[in-house]
Amino acid sequence: MTDFYKKIIENNKKWVENKLAISPDYFKNLAEGQNPPLLWIGCSDSRVPANEIIGAEPGEVFVHRNIANMVVHSDMNMLSVLDYAVNALKVKHVIVCGHYGCGGVKAAMGNTSIGIIDNWIRHIKDTYRFHQHELDAIEDEKERFNKFVEINVKEQVMDLAKTSIVQNAWKNGQELSLHGWVYGLNDGYVTDLGVNFSCDTDLDDVYQLKF
Ligand SMILES: [Zn+2]
Repeated sequence: MTDFYKKIIENNKKWVENKLAISPDYFKNLAEGQNPPLLWIGCSDSRVPANEIIGAEPGEVFVHRNIANMVVHSDMNMLSVLDYAVNALKVKHVIVCGHYGCGGVKAAMGNTSIGIIDNWIRHIKDTYRFHQHELDAIEDEKERFNKFVEINVKEQVMDLAKTSIVQNAWKNGQELSLHGWVYGLNDGYVTDLGVNFSCDTDLDDVYQLKF
């Protein structure tokens, strides 16, 4: 076994000990069930760990992660997570969190074939196409990249708002808010991108949203 592999097993033991030292019933209580107020849809990037960024403990955030934090309507994995979070756990917030420097978004800006992932990146490329006029007008490549990351998050929040799961929750008056964030790898801060939707939101505004 590699040192790294041994180390992570050791780390787990230490983590359990630390938790039990604070509360002897820590795991017993967690095993009773979960009632997280939040669903997090984020990027798979190792530098953007959902719980740590927002100071959440186990049990406080339901998580779905994929490359470039996409909400793809035909993705059964995402839909299953969303359905369970909204209809079974009754989360009150869903946050789509992208991040600057996202490799998936960067790849979607180029034409290099990487492999299987090309098929996933097609969805991100669609987002670029929807906003091509605005994005192509930005000459500075870094600036364009950052803007694309932000636009991609906003687009995913809109797609989330359009899912039958969210629409039905709102129709039934369920308390559920959607938010779009972007995380800065350089400084650790998240920025709220101002796409906050709830059952009070006029859906015509969502469909016609320009950014
Ligand atoms: Zn990423």
